[in-house]
Amino acid sequence: MRFGARQCFLCGTPTTPGVDAVPVFGEWLMNRYHLHERQIKLLDLSIVAYKDLQIACCPRCRTQHVEPLEAQVQAAASQGVTGLRNLDDKTLFLWLGKMMYGVLVTELLNELEPLAVPQYPLAENAKMLRRFQAFFQPFQALRVPVEFDDFTPASVFVLEVDPAQDDMPFEYDDDLSTLAFSIKLDNAVVTACLVDNGIIRQAMRRVYQDAQRPLHPVQVAEFKARVYYAAYILNVVPDYYLRPLQPGATQLVMDTVIDDVTGDIFNPWENAAYGQSLLEMWKRWQIPLEDIMHDPEQPLSFLYTADGEPLQLTHYPATDNA
Ligand SMILES: [Zn+2]
Repeated sequence: MRFGARQCFLCGTPTTPGVDAVPVFGEWLMNRYHLHERQIKLLDLSIVAYKDLQIACCPRCRTQHVEPLEAQVQAAASQGVTGLRNLDDKTLFLWLGKMMYGVLVTELLNELEPLAVPQYPLAENAKMLRRFQAFFQPFQALRVPVEFDDFTPASVFVLEVDPAQDDMPFEYDDDLSTLAFSIKLDNAVVTACLVDNGIIRQAMRRVYQDAQRPLHPVQVAEFKARVYYAAYILNVVPDYYLRPLQPGATQLVMDTVIDDVTGDIFNPWENAAYGQSLLEMWKRWQIPLEDIMHDPEQPLSFLYTADGEPLQLTHYPATDNA
């Protein structure tokens, strides 16, 4: 796993900087949501336009692997939430993984010559680097035919936003230190932890089940806060192994092991820390921390009532005559 402008991100073939590249956010995405000139602030506070976020990629990987993947997701996304839900987990993992990879590598390269030294440089985050290295193995499925034996490398969720109070056609955010990533395409929000072998989805299966309905954006934000916080307290990093190739096989088979079975899979859930995650995700609505933590045993929720029933929310803040 080496990166820079002179090596294809997938196969390592030498590339010509500025010529052999693919955009981090697919051309169709940038066209559809007018992102080319839109700006992203990196961790060192420097500003970069979406169109300038690029990954070095050889012509072969671009035409054989990356562009077909983008075309497949583009076709699915044109069918909205249903289309995205019909995509298999592996495709969504690879598509989200490619964007996350691109953003993360941009940040890492940028840290070599930062505009302002970040408070917590990613390159010094040993846990993140371990997760990133683990992620890169199943991510090779973008280039080589690999079948995952009975596991999915990521937890991927596709949520539907109720259009009534939704005014953001495109949104993207991430937590690079935990490889959590979300992207919003019209009324579909895809959110994921990319290196947990589906553990978070398993842990959140009831919440996800209850969220299979159009959600108010403030509810989607809460769901994301739960995913991001779970990724933060996740205490294991999977290992991956390729099985020896059988004669005549057309696919490699990858196994996975989480070998640290002595420790807990998650560190303890702490409401005060989860409250910070909610505060961050609810920034748009400016919900004060005192309100979020009004009951320290049960932080504010818009997904559930105090009795634990799924909450129907059409307006936030609630209108007086509602
Ligand atoms: Zn390549």
